[in-house]
Amino acid sequence: MARTDTTVMWFRRDLRLGDNPALLDACASDGIVPLFVLDPALWGPAGPARRVYLTASLRALDASLRQRRSGLCVVRGDPVRQVVRAARAVGATRVHVAADYGPYGHRRDLEVEEALAAHGIGLVRTGSPYAVAPGRVTNGSGSAYQVFTPFSKAWAEHGWRTPVDPPTDVRWLSLDETVDLPDPTPPDGLELPEAGERAALRRWRAYLEDDLGEYDTARDRPGLDATSHMSVHLKWGEIHPRTMLADLSADKREGAATYRKELAWREFYADVLFRRPETAREYLRKEFAGMEYDEPGEPFDAWRQGRTGYPIVDAGMRQLRATGWMHNRVRMITASFLVKDLHVEWQHGARHFMRWLVDGDLASNQHGWQWVAGCGTDAAPYFRVFNPTTQGRKFDPDGSYVRRWLPELRDVGPRHLHEPWAVPDGPPDGYPAPIVEHAEERREALDRLERIKK
Ligand code: FAD
Repeated sequence: MARTDTTVMWFRRDLRLGDNPALLDACASDGIVPLFVLDPALWGPAGPARRVYLTASLRALDASLRQRRSGLCVVRGDPVRQVVRAARAVGATRVHVAADYGPYGHRRDLEVEEALAAHGIGLVRTGSPYAVAPGRVTNGSGSAYQVFTPFSKAWAEHGWRTPVDPPTDVRWLSLDETVDLPDPTPPDGLELPEAGERAALRRWRAYLEDDLGEYDTARDRPGLDATSHMSVHLKWGEIHPRTMLADLSADKREGAATYRKELAWREFYADVLFRRPETAREYLRKEFAGMEYDEPGEPFDAWRQGRTGYPIVDAGMRQLRATGWMHNRVRMITASFLVKDLHVEWQHGARHFMRWLVDGDLASNQHGWQWVAGCGTDAAPYFRVFNPTTQGRKFDPDGSYVRRWLPELRDVGPRHLHEPWAVPDGPPDGYPAPIVEHAEERREALDRLERIKK
């Protein structure tokens, strides 16, 4: 009897069937098991919003597989044990994955590879969640770029492959021992976007058609909601950035060029974290570890709850809790406020974001925080201190964003919306007075900076 060639496709951050080179590779076999491992090491810290979203995305993948007379095989436990077990159960010769470049995923894959090899099974990495794999973009002397702009130019010059079609004529297999997907309860009032590959493609196409043209001019205005909200779909690989870049390259509008640059930020941060995995927790610029910081006490709680008395900060923090997402400009303002007005180390804020963000991505989040805190890859460093009042006036001039998230301020006119403490008849009921005075804290932040420079 001819020997059959069976494979396992281990899905992780690539929850789609289309434009998935690892899946195509896996399908060049006589039979394939579509596998997902619920890994307690990732599930535990994921936070309620991401758990709910991930489960919905896995259900969507399962539904797509069922239309192909298959179904997602879900197992729970340590991947080193579970992947080997699944592969051996079906006599697989190879396990296919898209390479993971994050600190945990990279380490985990090396361990899984070793455990599989002990049974003569190969781990095959094809592609990654990025257009250009982290570590690939280098300067003339072969080293990494330290700042974004030259990276983004070299990244664009490097280029990427064109998207691939979904597999056809596949013989799907299943495992005898699988578990049901969990059914986590969303926190009260949490509204999440629709999950899955189809939802991602639908949102992307609608965005291209309706809003991309204005991206360039409107993306910094949180009240207009003019950004794509694709981050969550990218986070889970419900769409590959290459699919998006192919559409963008055919689009000659200014918005398309700007959007491409934003995708390059995602790739840049993945590259930085891959090369410096310790920066998931530690300062990229080590000297900042020696700066004087305050313990995260009551002001930190007020920040987390959206009760600092600075409307744009509070609106952002409440949007985060209500939707698992926050506008990019407001992520910068809220992060700056925590580090430079409250003098709390960036890691505390980054942890809070990672708990609540549905698009929570270690590379973009930790390095977004370090950029704002001035200890990361920013070329214009620490002395950039966002003023929450002028940022509010500039980017939310009609106050629509602040009014949407802060019902206490709905009746305040545009003139005082970003400084409600100055309302002539007295500040609105129920809204806190500012917990700190920005001008004073700005000076304090700069003094602390001076002290580490000496
Ligand atoms: P769009 O404006 O439509 O941008 C399109 C895509 O480009 C995004 O989906 C994202 O993939 C990428 N992108 C845009 N801006 C950035 C950026 N500054 N850094 C990296 N990628 C970018 N993004 C995450 O995906 N996950 C995070 O956990 C995360 N945490 C952040 C924390 C802080 C403190 C800051 C300042 C930024 C963070 N970002 C994070 C980046 C950015 O805020 C989000 O990607 C963006 O708001 C997502 O909304 P969107 O898809 O509508 O963005």
